[in-house]
Amino acid sequence: MHNSSGRLKIFNGQIIGPDAIIPSSCVFVEQGKIVGIEPMDTDFPEAELVDAQGNYISPGFIDIHVHGGGGCDFMDGTVEAFLTIAETHAKHGTTSLLPTTLTSEKEDLIQTLEAFGRAEKVNGMGANLIGMHLEGPYFAMAQRGAQDPKYIRNPDPAEYEEILNTYSCIKRWSAAPELKGAVEFGKFVTSKGVLAAIAHTDAIYEEVLEAFHEGGYTLATHFYSAMSGVTRRNAYRYAGVVESAYLLDDMDVEIIADGVHLPAPLLKLVYKIKGPHRIALITDAMRAADMPPGNSILGSLKNGLSVLVEDGVAKLPDRTAFAGSVATADRCVRTMLNMAEVPLVETIQMMSHNPARILGIEGQKGSLSVGKDADIVIFNPEIEVQKTIVKGRSVYQKA
Ligand SMILES: [Zn+2]
Repeated sequence: MHNSSGRLKIFNGQIIGPDAIIPSSCVFVEQGKIVGIEPMDTDFPEAELVDAQGNYISPGFIDIHVHGGGGCDFMDGTVEAFLTIAETHAKHGTTSLLPTTLTSEKEDLIQTLEAFGRAEKVNGMGANLIGMHLEGPYFAMAQRGAQDPKYIRNPDPAEYEEILNTYSCIKRWSAAPELKGAVEFGKFVTSKGVLAAIAHTDAIYEEVLEAFHEGGYTLATHFYSAMSGVTRRNAYRYAGVVESAYLLDDMDVEIIADGVHLPAPLLKLVYKIKGPHRIALITDAMRAADMPPGNSILGSLKNGLSVLVEDGVAKLPDRTAFAGSVATADRCVRTMLNMAEVPLVETIQMMSHNPARILGIEGQKGSLSVGKDADIVIFNPEIEVQKTIVKGRSVYQKA
């Protein structure tokens, strides 16, 4: 039963509100927006009825760091890849995602940025494509991880100013703040309304402090991965990015919550120190997310790196290091519940409200509140997604 106003009444569920579970209530949706959170028996004429069957009704998941899934990577640079990834993650409860690049040739980056614009227009059955995240190429060589060394360099104003002035779809850029020119880079990025994040870095506390206060870097990218901890230079110890993010109360951190990249004690430590409001859960997923284990490719099909997917993570073929995550957002939620023992409402804040706030879109997304976009996921107590709704449209229904 469809109607032109797109009125939905989602009932018979446990609504995950901003601060608590709201029992015996229903969500009213009209024209892609939430227009009411009302007692169960409130009438909403001519609405399509959506029976949540006693499951949770949650704000949709927002993944601000994801490279791929369903066999595709955003660096494939095609509309088809964008749509496949958006639809793959929607099946796992993601209603908005920030497509993320890898360091590459400039022409490959441009191709991906161009594909974003075309994909956004035709994306009918996937998670919202809410902007691009550029990961690199301004990184510390020693912390490059799986990023190709031949592209790693210091910030180049002529290059980044042109890219940011041309592509307004860019909403986030991750860089190492200790590099020459990185504070100026952060200033320019944030002057454009783009989030500056600290990534692939060997910075010490003094450098992070300057980056935070002067450069506007407010987020630590995949916290603990590819970043400095305590280091020693001769006899003296220095605090690294990890300690800095703990010391700076207002710095946000995102964590790859696949349960593999960070073990339970570290998940608990991050939660204990940063609390429920400064953590965003991310998948950082590569193309093998939601695919069978075995051989895969990190990065673009054209010039990516061969990797092996086993034990729920991508590894270098010699198994000496991880080479990417294959997480989906529902798995991140399960990880925080089961391994970090975080309560459900706070876990959902980390997978929806916090990422929305970090990106500056909490006025439209991140909670089931009247006036916000109707981005909703229904899942059972095992956090298995039953239904995903993006802007009032059902994009996934479990068979
Ligand atoms: Zn990444």
